[in-house]
Amino acid sequence: MAFLEIEHLEKSFGTNRVVKDFNLSVAKGEFISLLGPSGCGKTTVLRMVAGFESPSTGAIRIDGKDVVKLRPNQRNIGMVFQAYALFPNLTVAQNVAFGLKVAGVGRAEREARVVEMLRLIGLPDKGPSYPFQLSGGQQQRVALARALAVRPQVLLLDEPLSALDAKIRVSLRAEIRQIQRELGITTIFVTHDQEEALSMSDRVVVMNGGVAEQVAEPFEIYNRPATRFVANFVGQLNRIEARVIAPTTGEIEIGGTRHMLGRSLPSGDVALALRPEALHMGADPARELNLTGQVTEVDFLGSVIRLRVDVAGNRLSADVFNRPDAPPPALNSTVTLSASASDLIILTA
Ligand code: ATP
Repeated sequence: MAFLEIEHLEKSFGTNRVVKDFNLSVAKGEFISLLGPSGCGKTTVLRMVAGFESPSTGAIRIDGKDVVKLRPNQRNIGMVFQAYALFPNLTVAQNVAFGLKVAGVGRAEREARVVEMLRLIGLPDKGPSYPFQLSGGQQQRVALARALAVRPQVLLLDEPLSALDAKIRVSLRAEIRQIQRELGITTIFVTHDQEEALSMSDRVVVMNGGVAEQVAEPFEIYNRPATRFVANFVGQLNRIEARVIAPTTGEIEIGGTRHMLGRSLPSGDVALALRPEALHMGADPARELNLTGQVTEVDFLGSVIRLRVDVAGNRLSADVFNRPDAPPPALNSTVTLSASASDLIILTA
């Protein structure tokens, strides 16, 4: 049973349709990310769920109840924004207690809830501090505590990590997810950072031009992108121009060399795509695709070596694991890379 349901949601600003027939069912306790480039409409969807923006058409139900006509404070939603929106003149404890006070929760209960929330975010001693005495990451954790203190039914996170530096961002990802799991709170997270979306979410909604292009688990989104846009937006992708010789057996030609993929393909010219990690160093007869080309770049990154190899005009990126007994190939040397046909992503849509 869906806990949060969004049906045929549309939003236009004047003649600009920024959200188009958006549908989403979120299960109770699920963590969903809305992922997409700037301007794709993800914040607008979130703001409609929060009640800051009203839909042009469509339905939003929380726990079976239509909330479209309700004001934000009637929706039982907690929200955390990109910029630290803490009240600077209030202590951490007062910030966390703020919503509870507005809701008329008594003092003893408020204090107990503040202690519980500060423990939850790992800042049990920071109650008397003021926001300016905290780091950016700590401030965002307090913002999260403040949003959660009122025990909302749904948590909405609008790029809450984007103002933080890279290291803190990564550690806060895990913390937010842990807190979200502990509370079992249904969450929608807006981000344009694919790594954030893939690493944190139960399911990801990839948006483009106001449309949800794919709604799926991170593994599916990455390995089986539904559209060309999703394939290009999420992760790195090598495109290989190929001519299909025999669609049923999957015989193709790349730069004059034929390969038998053993899987059916659409006929004509197709764009084949491969993730950099699907290419392996060295010829391997057990893999259907063996591609020989010239090394044009070698980036030694430590655990991984990123190679650029020119194969019949296709500039391929290959990520190969570092092995102390096998130094990386030399620049301009000729190498063969192999890949399994099952790792190919066929781009048609
Ligand atoms: P970003 O990551 O940059 O915030 P986004 O995917 O969240 O992007 P939205 O903020 O939802 O995108 O904006 C979608 C489109 O709607 C944009 O073209 C934006 O200019 C437009 N838009 C958003 N709010 C308004 C508004 N109040 N009035 C007019 N146009 C708006």
